[in-house]
Parts: sequence; C-alpha cells; structure tokens
Amino acid sequence: MFETLTVKTNKRCEMIDITDRVQDVVRGSGTTDGCAICYVPHTTAGVTIQENADPDVVHDILYKLEALVPHSDPNFRHGEGNSDAHIKASLMGASVMVPIRQSALVLGTWQAIYFCEFDGPRSRLLHVQLIEG
Ligand code: ZN
Repeated sequence: MFETLTVKTNKRCEMIDITDRVQDVVRGSGTTDGCAICYVPHTTAGVTIQENADPDVVHDILYKLEALVPHSDPNFRHGEGNSDAHIKASLMGASVMVPIRQSALVLGTWQAIYFCEFDGPRSRLLHVQLIEG
C-alpha cells in the first residue's frame, strides 16, 4: 500500500510533526502489522524521528544545524544558493522506517515523525509505503 501526502511548509527551515498524518494512513489502509516507510522525494528536505514533548528540542536542532551549516558560505559553489539546504537534508536523511503493531505506529513515548524543511516555504511530498508482515 502506497500513499503520498502533501506537506505545506511555512518557513525556510522548520520541522513539522507528521506523526498523526502517517498514523491516519496506517489506520485507513487496514494494515495491522508490518512497517511504514516514510520517504521524502526531495533534495532539500528530509525526515527524522525526534522528541515532540518539548518544542525547545526542535528549536535547538534547527539552531545547531544553522550554526553548523550557515545559509550562505562564500566557499559554496552550487549556483542555486541553497547548498546549506542540501547538506541539512542529507544530515537528516530521506527516509525513516517505523514498525506497525495492532494498527499503530510503534513509537517511543517521546518520539514523533518530523518532516524537515530546509528550503521553504513550499508544497512538499511525503511518500508512505506500508509493508505487511
Ligand atoms: Zn540546490
């Protein structure tokens, strides 16, 4: 089962909690056991699993990514001017895989799935592939 979600982003860099949307895909599919692959088909956005209890965690991740990889760097060569977004996307990765048990994503108490935008705002895609088993 394969479904594509649209994710609207609002800032150049932000992390959006998409856990409920992925859980809705799982529930709607009727899949009870297996895994969900969340895959971002972009080169300047990514996906990761992180804490959703304290919003300061997301703030600190974005703050440190910006400190590590500033938007502009005179040594960047890429003509689009978004080299930082490509690097940040690679640091986060293009996919996560989450187990499914009893029709629910198996996430830790503090875990959430985040879509990571690094060159927004834009309309983005997130593919969800469900594998039964
Ligand atoms: Zn680029």
